[in-house]
Amino acid sequence: MTLLGHSDEEYPPAPGTPPGAAPPAARAHLLNGRTAQSYRGTVTEGVDRVARRISGVTQPATGASVPDVTAEFADLDLDQPLHDPARALDELERVYLRDAVYFHHPRYLAHLNCPIVIPALLGEAVLSAVNSSLDTWDQSAGATLIERQLIDWTARRLGLGPAADGVFTSGGTQSNLQALLLARDEACAAVRRRSTGQARTSGILPRLRVLTSECAHFSVAKSAALLGLGYEAVLPVPSDADKRMNPAALAGELDRCRREGLVPMAVVATAGTTDFGSIDPLNEIADLCERSGAWLHVDAAYGCGLLVSRRRHLLAGIERADSVTVDFHKSFFQPVSSSAVLVRDRATLRHATYHADYLNPESDAEDRVPNQVDKSIQTTRRFDALKLWLTLRVMGAEAIGELFDAVVDRAAEAWAQIEADPRFEVVTRPQLSTLVFRYLPRAEATPEMCDRVNRRARQALFDSGAAVVAATTVEGRQYLKFTLLNPETSANDITEVLDLVAEHGALAELAELSRSGVS
Ligand SMILES: *Cc1c(COP(=O)(O)O)cnc(C)c1O
Repeated sequence: MTLLGHSDEEYPPAPGTPPGAAPPAARAHLLNGRTAQSYRGTVTEGVDRVARRISGVTQPATGASVPDVTAEFADLDLDQPLHDPARALDELERVYLRDAVYFHHPRYLAHLNCPIVIPALLGEAVLSAVNSSLDTWDQSAGATLIERQLIDWTARRLGLGPAADGVFTSGGTQSNLQALLLARDEACAAVRRRSTGQARTSGILPRLRVLTSECAHFSVAKSAALLGLGYEAVLPVPSDADKRMNPAALAGELDRCRREGLVPMAVVATAGTTDFGSIDPLNEIADLCERSGAWLHVDAAYGCGLLVSRRRHLLAGIERADSVTVDFHKSFFQPVSSSAVLVRDRATLRHATYHADYLNPESDAEDRVPNQVDKSIQTTRRFDALKLWLTLRVMGAEAIGELFDAVVDRAAEAWAQIEADPRFEVVTRPQLSTLVFRYLPRAEATPEMCDRVNRRARQALFDSGAAVVAATTVEGRQYLKFTLLNPETSANDITEVLDLVAEHGALAELAELSRSGVS
């Protein structure tokens, strides 16, 4: 007997089913009270396969090439179902699981993909099975309150004040887009209030500008384009040697906007740039925003892990932001997707509100029905908040902070190691957990040759599958990048990966030299 008073087997058959009849084949796949046992078995088998795969993985990637993986799909016909989850999983091993890139492996050092915590996976299993949709109360009930509690918790950690609010999003890109949508509409409203005549939106939009550092995430520029402002509306502000926005340069750009009759609708500061992990000087930028009336958005997609770390002070000034992006799937060890946008003044979220009669009518708002769709640019929306909820309820915030601090500590050590290693050159000393560096070929190598050697070394390393590192450019030149997000990455792993990079670099260098006839 279950709590519901009947076992799975005794669950009443669907209306109209003749007694003793087997469920129709297609219906047997629907999750309901009659199929709960099959759900348990099928999903457990999938979990088993992944657990076995994860236990057996010895490198972060297999290095399978695009043609190799493509070939596995050759005789696969989507119109010929296998009718059996076990067979489908066998096939999946071949087309996906075997050659997937595994972020939990300590020598995966490439992008902002974290290893994930088990309580969050428990949340993932629950949220997709119950399948609440967070657009309206009548599709979610308690799920809406869980999301709201987490938004409030995050806003308190940020220090945004009593009127703060926000909503979960699909990622930092969407959070930045929504924040800039609010900033745009606030700026238009402010211009209209100030103007005597009829200021038309179409006349205001071409004057709007977004100021952000040259190291900001590309989604800022993309958002400006999506919001009808164009890529040209983004004014890049130079950064200093440590890749932090230069406030004097920002002040200069703001002045220039004023002189030219342009409207600085937002300044986007980055708390943890994607390449360098650098944190813009938030207080100085906030002072300038206050003076010029520009909306301050802080993109803490990467740096939000500091909210729970012993390095919280690095975010000082973030409490003065009008909006903040946090990506729990970057530095809170959450599975994709788990992200949010927060605002200082909940009234600004009205720019994302639309009352649809069938979904969230105005009468709902009058009755104070908590419909999260009123705050979101999505409609149907996953209950991603549950993953963070179970993480906080099981592990607690400080345990997450401990994991993040461990990778920041590791990056500081690795910086000292690379800095002292004559085979490499490292760009900046990290505030967070990235390291941008390059392999240095012998002195007579041209800059172009140096670029090619580094590109080839990275590719050869990826093809070997032994480690994965990222690449980026600095002032037009090719560099390599470690993004450390795995507390299991040891000092020894760093040493070994550096040796591998140097080995592949030396081979690429030899190939270059023989090609160019130098010996
Ligand atoms: C990763 C990143 C983003 C984009 O976030 P997604 O979750 O990938 O959409 C935005 N800003 C910064 C600084 C980032 O590092």
